[in-house]
Amino acid sequence: MAEDRNLTIIQRLASAYPETKTLLDYLTNRNAVPEKEAKGTMTGATGEFQYGNTSDMHRTLRVGPAGKIRMQPAANAGTFIHELTHAADLQMDAQYHEDVGKAGRKENQFTRAYNRLRFNPSFDQNNRNNFEKMVNLLAPNFAAEQGDYRASNLEVRAFAVGDSVAPEGKFATPIGRKEIPPHLNATMATEFMILLELANRETIKKPTPAAPTVR
Ligand SMILES: [Zn+2]
Repeated sequence: MAEDRNLTIIQRLASAYPETKTLLDYLTNRNAVPEKEAKGTMTGATGEFQYGNTSDMHRTLRVGPAGKIRMQPAANAGTFIHELTHAADLQMDAQYHEDVGKAGRKENQFTRAYNRLRFNPSFDQNNRNNFEKMVNLLAPNFAAEQGDYRASNLEVRAFAVGDSVAPEGKFATPIGRKEIPPHLNATMATEFMILLELANRETIKKPTPAAPTVR
């Protein structure tokens, strides 16, 4: 494979932030570090995380079970951390369901925190509204304006972690962090990193999974 110099640069920039190592350690312990490249994205966004394939997808676009991060050549550390957050978020969902979803499995510190922080003790994969509720409480105007994307369940914490960890990348940050209330980013990022720490602690107690759970 040809050297991806831009990826090397982006990863070096991101390595200045300890959160990058925390995210990568967790993904490594889950055996779920995504493929990565900085040669452009499918959507034109600055970065994207593809997890899973669709049946109509060309084989060159298909990804392995850990998914793939694609970035523009000029993406910054915040973008990389944003996409790593998506990857870790999905793994935490999978881990939660491994831990509580099967007969004989027990609650642990991670699953209890997951229940509490996700604002809904009966959280399941079909109910992803909990973060939107939190955004509504913390920043109602932002929720009303950006509910369909940046304030959505899937995106709000990735933006929070990426933008609060690495606000000043080498390159201009693409997507308007100024529109996101700073206290919201800080709160969501802190919450995410606490949950990640607990998830990692449970993960290293277990044997490395053969492959990440795909859903
Ligand atoms: Zn995102």
